Amino acid sequence: MYGRYRKAHGITGNKLMPCEADDPDAMIKADGTFVKLKPQYRRRRSGLAGQKIEKSKAQAPAELLCGIGNCGGDKLLKTAVKLECCGRVFNDECIRTRLMENEFVCPYCKTEVELDDIVPDGEMRRKVKASAHEGAVQ
Ligand SMILES: [Zn+2]
Ligand SMILES: [Zn+2]
Repeated sequence: MYGRYRKAHGITGNKLMPCEADDPDAMIKADGTFVKLKPQYRRRRSGLAGQKIEKSKAQAPAELLCGIGNCGGDKLLKTAVKLECCGRVFNDECIRTRLMENEFVCPYCKTEVELDDIVPDGEMRRKVKASAHEGAVQ
């Protein structure tokens, strides 16, 4: 009756976990109990490749990036300014350009904005600097 199961011989015990006989990944051990590979050991190669791609993409947390992104390059909020209307943060030049194109209507909350409503966001600038310093951001 155990014919359809793969045998777990040759797999290090600490890579295995107990499971039910009807588990699709079930293998059988010499003593007749059922085991399967722990999640971290399954399809290892593709899993690792996937992680690598995600990591390089996620180098800078989204909160440190300009939401408009006309700034190009790394989009980091090095010249962070905050809009009073909705509290969103952009790079200074990006939001000024965008507002001029939009007759000074905030592209996000559609409030009319004046230049005085664009305030430097010192805290964000510090965060960006700190993250660059830590080497988290190139
Ligand atoms: Zn930008
Ligand atoms: Zn707004």
